[in-house]
Amino acid sequence: MNAQRDYEALVQQGLKLDLTRGKPSPRQLDLADDMLKLPASYTTAGGLDGRNYGDLQGLPELRELFAPLLQVPAAQLVVGGNSSLTIMHDTVVHALLSKVPGAETRWVEAGEITFLCPVPGYDRHFTICRDLGIKMVAVPMNDEGPDMDVVERLVAEDSSVKGIWCVPKYSNPSGVSYSDETVRRLAAMPAAAPDFRVFWDNAYAVHHLTGTPAVLADVLALCEEHGNADRAFVFGSTSKVTLAGSGVSFFGSSPANVAWYLRNLSKQSIGPDKINQLRHVEFLRDAEGVAAHMRKHAELVAPKFEVVDRVLTKELSGLATWTSPQGGYFISLEVPGAAEVVAKAKAAGIALTPAGATHPYGVDPDDRTIRIAPTYPDLAELEQAITGLAICVRLVAG
Ligand code: PMP
Repeated sequence: MNAQRDYEALVQQGLKLDLTRGKPSPRQLDLADDMLKLPASYTTAGGLDGRNYGDLQGLPELRELFAPLLQVPAAQLVVGGNSSLTIMHDTVVHALLSKVPGAETRWVEAGEITFLCPVPGYDRHFTICRDLGIKMVAVPMNDEGPDMDVVERLVAEDSSVKGIWCVPKYSNPSGVSYSDETVRRLAAMPAAAPDFRVFWDNAYAVHHLTGTPAVLADVLALCEEHGNADRAFVFGSTSKVTLAGSGVSFFGSSPANVAWYLRNLSKQSIGPDKINQLRHVEFLRDAEGVAAHMRKHAELVAPKFEVVDRVLTKELSGLATWTSPQGGYFISLEVPGAAEVVAKAKAAGIALTPAGATHPYGVDPDDRTIRIAPTYPDLAELEQAITGLAICVRLVAG
């Protein structure tokens, strides 16, 4: 096979394809069309007027609905606006400026602050740290989550380590789900910093692609059991359940952390968008309603993951490795010369997330990981894009 000739033919096609961000496709968004006709009533079952100010923590009915899905008791769940990323960013800012429970000082007064960043990971977590002056230390991922020997050592030895980013289910971008033992060790390990926190971004809690969903151990319960009740901050959202631009987001934690978070939030807002919360309660109804809705997503998304796997198997066996996630939004492709592959793909009209984005400071020391986001393009475009990407990999491999 002549890679150079194939690449020239690819460039000639003048493609314009985008595999950069994990956006739901228009057909996935259509699944929530009926939600936009809701709510049928502005009044909640509990008698609250959804149109008014107040109820900072969010509607009890919506917190009850998502409590089992996020493994957070409803009383310890807060509902936010459309973006969990906002909550994550604000939580870090709050921790810098307002002492978290158990802290000796505000983080901004604590000297150097370090977060552990399992890699490959989610670029926007890393951007939050970079912009807020938090040092990042990469920790390798294996097929059970972060390498816990490394995590335990760093957290026990170094009191500047105040946090770790975790995407525990169908991780972005590898698709790995944390094993029970990984969750237990994160909850139980000794920490040099009394205010060490696990940032538990459960963005893909209900985003299964197979009939055998990953089940996570209950991080809040385990933290409490091991005497570290305040250790975990849990985040989630319906961005890829209902509407990416008009969903609801969640913060969950121990009672002390929730009180701290609400105290800070009370200065930012008099109350959330409860009409949208009502809309979500009426549309999703209960945990089974969410599961049924997610099965419709899986019908649209699973064939896309299958196309990627099929094309990569046909074109790149022996030349590259990639993950075959059972849920979530991403596939991670490991190739030699990732940055050059991404540049060649770009020149051929196939946009990919910059190589390195999956690592702190945008630097992948092995120059290997490429994140593939297959959900947005239709099947034919996706097949074209992955076939083109495979040509670029073969070209760079020489
Ligand atoms: N966390 C992870 C791990 C994600 O992959 C994404 C979306 N790509 C987000 C958070 C963003 O979530 P939200 O829309 O709730 O801000």
